Amino acid sequence: MNLLILGAPGAGKGTMAQMLQEKLNIPHISTGDIFRYNIKNDTELGRKVKQYIESGALVPDSLTVDLMKDRLQKPDCLKGFLLDGFPRTINQAESLDAILDEMNLNLDNAIYLEVPDEVIIERITGRRVCTECGKTYHIKNNPPIREGLCDVCGKPLIQREDDKEATVIKRLETYHRQTEPLVAYYKNQGKLLVVNGEGSIDSVFQEILRILGVQENDFN
Ligand code: ADP
Ligand code: AMP
Repeated sequence: MNLLILGAPGAGKGTMAQMLQEKLNIPHISTGDIFRYNIKNDTELGRKVKQYIESGALVPDSLTVDLMKDRLQKPDCLKGFLLDGFPRTINQAESLDAILDEMNLNLDNAIYLEVPDEVIIERITGRRVCTECGKTYHIKNNPPIREGLCDVCGKPLIQREDDKEATVIKRLETYHRQTEPLVAYYKNQGKLLVVNGEGSIDSVFQEILRILGVQENDFN
């Protein structure tokens, strides 16, 4: 399946994409994760994007589209893919259509996780991530077994710099202005699947599987 997951920052895209990646056995490709990896390793790309990300703005389309064009050519995408955090502008969505067209591929569906802003603020400000492997937790909704430490690698959890409240407000504004129009874009293409993202992690995941028509034992 060739899929993307759409929604506000903090809606639960990464959490659901991680679970779907395991269930559907397709790569989870998050532009945010790729940018953070590059910032952490102080690469040329990391140095270019750091300021935009820390201020809650979007990285310029040219950088983001080139990055995704390369990523989609990797052989693991032949079995399908799940994009998370890309596209984030109409221009990026049009570029994605053109890239897939060139590769003779098609997007099957855009899953839209709908979550109201009040819930978003609570989710983002409570988010903690592993400094080593990037796994995501929530201090209340999805806490680690040992406080402040990753269940997978035992390394410390931190709050992302852009998850502090002041930047969150800016990111939400950016989302409503630049990314939300994609809901209509994919609706017009007949590819939009709307999911109410307000339930628990498990119930939202089950709803996504249901709406995709995936049965309990598929892909096992
Ligand atoms: P996004 O990738 O959309 O920015 P995340 O997947 O990182 O969002 O989720 C944001 C925060 O909300 C994380 O701390 C995550 O553990 C938590 N979370 C995700 N989905 C749910 C849910 N359905 N109910 C409650 N908390 C959730
Ligand atoms: P995320 O991890 O998806 O919340 O992304 C973190 C930040 O990375 C965003 O606030 C943007 O600054 C940047 N970013 C991620 N994906 C994109 C994209 N598709 N276009 C532009 N900027 C992006």
